Amino acid sequence: DSFQDLALVLRKALLGSVLSAFEKPTAIQRVSIPVALSGRDIIAVAKTGSGKTAAYTIPLLTHISLQARGSSTSGKGPSALIIAPTRELALQITGVVKLFGEGTKTGVLCVVGGHAKYEQFKRLRDSGAEVIVCTPGRLIDMVKMKACGFSRCSFVVLDEADRMFDMGFGPQVDALLSQIRPDAQKLLFSATFPSSVAKLASFYLRDPVRITV
Ligand code: AMP
Repeated sequence: DSFQDLALVLRKALLGSVLSAFEKPTAIQRVSIPVALSGRDIIAVAKTGSGKTAAYTIPLLTHISLQARGSSTSGKGPSALIIAPTRELALQITGVVKLFGEGTKTGVLCVVGGHAKYEQFKRLRDSGAEVIVCTPGRLIDMVKMKACGFSRCSFVVLDEADRMFDMGFGPQVDALLSQIRPDAQKLLFSATFPSSVAKLASFYLRDPVRITV
């Protein structure tokens, strides 16, 4: 019941930033982190306040740090993608990725509406960020403008999946996931589990581990 127990699989730099933020993992972190580090897809039914952001950010950063960037995959674009329903949530998540990713010097870019499109296009095209945190509509706009592709993206998080459907972003989420390599690891977090989310999960996730806290 401690982050030290996970030390073997967490890289030192990442563990340092996690330990300076938190004392011990929450329930969702205790269960999700080892499962995600083993490479499995996850469906986690967890609410805001459960510590879900760190539950997927820690394995995401571990995944990236273990990946030899540019060796197995070619082309530009992010190694990991986090999709969230709102601009506010995406900004919040970006802060957490930056905080935990500081020691590993992971590049992160937040792609949400409200910023000038062409500026964002150039930043996305030129940044070389390994992690993109986005709202679905704006990232699709960027993909249409050919700011980036997903040929090297091997880790995807859907946060607050139920809310994305509530807000009518189902088709956009589907359009994004359809462009991701089928073998990418996918983690889906949702406060509730309606049939819309179940359908999406059964289409895109491979033999997911179901976690409820
Ligand atoms: P989240 O569910 O990701 O929105 O996180 C809710 C709140 O819990 C945030 O303020 C986090 O900083 C905090 N939190 C996440 N993990 C832990 C932990 N292991 N120990 C203490 N607080 C945490």
